[in-house]
Amino acid sequence: MHFEEFSLDRRLIAPLDHQGLEVATEIQQQAMPVAMQGKDLIASSKTGSGKTLAFLLPAMQRVLKQRALSKRDARVLILTPTRELAKQVYSQLRLLAAGTGIKTCLVLGGENFNDQAKALQKDPQFVVGTPGRIGDHLAQRQLHLNGLEMLILDEADRMLDLGFAPQLLQINQAADHRLRQTLLFSATLDSAEVNDIAKQLLKTPVRVSIGHGN
Ligand code: ADP
Ligand code: MG
Repeated sequence: MHFEEFSLDRRLIAPLDHQGLEVATEIQQQAMPVAMQGKDLIASSKTGSGKTLAFLLPAMQRVLKQRALSKRDARVLILTPTRELAKQVYSQLRLLAAGTGIKTCLVLGGENFNDQAKALQKDPQFVVGTPGRIGDHLAQRQLHLNGLEMLILDEADRMLDLGFAPQLLQINQAADHRLRQTLLFSATLDSAEVNDIAKQLLKTPVRVSIGHGN
């Protein structure tokens, strides 16, 4: 299936074309329609199968098409286990956001807290970060998630392996309202920890699993 067949905003098709991306991968084909219907989603497929665009495109589409719940709060929060992964997701997000006017912010542990707080004061619609530092900004009231529309957990299995369950629950609570959509991506879904956190953070999720024999 070609990206043009997903009824995506035209501003999203141009940056895909520039990168030579035309045909959706299997996980993108299965996950994007579910996410674009506003449903909660648990998705797994192997590394390198294109999970980043499978969540970035529906998130961008939602922000471009729908009116914000709040003018000031972040609309989409994307959590990744490591700084390196956050940077990779962020650079793909920047390519997609380039022609849209959407504001983005990257919030990593180990970098200057006050600079990040200043960047968050500019009310970015998308925030990408690692759970520890995002949790710190929440605790210091530098980040507000009452109007958050989408919470995206990338590599949820690794975030839990690294001990981030408390931060995920803290973030979940800060963004706890019935209109929130939650997407969970993982390389595997057979861990008890992943299923436990999914039970706490997601509402009647659709499961999409590619290449695990189920
Ligand atoms: P994952 O998160 O599943 O490990 P990524 O989202 O990091 O995978 O994507 C891996 C690589 O595949 C990236 O270089 C990305 O640009 C590329 N890619 C993603 N979607 C497509 C596509 N539809 N067609 C071709 N390449 C793609
Ligand atoms: Mg990935």
